[in-house]
Amino acid sequence: MADCIFCKIAEGIIPCVKITEDDDVLAFLDINPLNTGHTLVLPKKHYETLFDIPEPVLHACMSTIRKIAEAVFKASGKDGLNLLQNNYRAAGQYIDHIHFHLVPRNVGDGFLTTWPAKPCPPAELAELLARIKAGL
Ligand code: AMP
Ligand code: ZN
Repeated sequence: MADCIFCKIAEGIIPCVKITEDDDVLAFLDINPLNTGHTLVLPKKHYETLFDIPEPVLHACMSTIRKIAEAVFKASGKDGLNLLQNNYRAAGQYIDHIHFHLVPRNVGDGFLTTWPAKPCPPAELAELLARIKAGL
């Protein structure tokens, strides 16, 4: 994709603070971190979202995530770590090239802490389940 910043980083046109790469996957430090150690992992090839990425490429991303997660976590000196992946603007995706965030967390760091969940009636869960299964 000509105007995709992550394609340009993957091609070496724009620099990044690279942690690791192989033929298919790249991992680098986020330029605007939520916390120390905030890392991005992405396929070098352009896929927009989780709904577009082929399964083997997704597996390759997950393999890289698994390889680097502990080192990122330990180097950050933090208390926890979130693995996040946003799809579409409503979910906070601002770069339309799929990427996974590794976000080290501090106790009490104050972000991603509200989770406004509420109980769902069983009938609603059953109806939703039927619609999900119909789409599989
Ligand atoms: P998202 O909101 O899920 O699309 O996340 C995009 C992420 O890319 C943000 O956390 C940005 O800080 C990060 N980002 C944008 N440009 C760069 C860049 N040139 N190098 C490293 N990280 C970047
Ligand atoms: Zn791209």
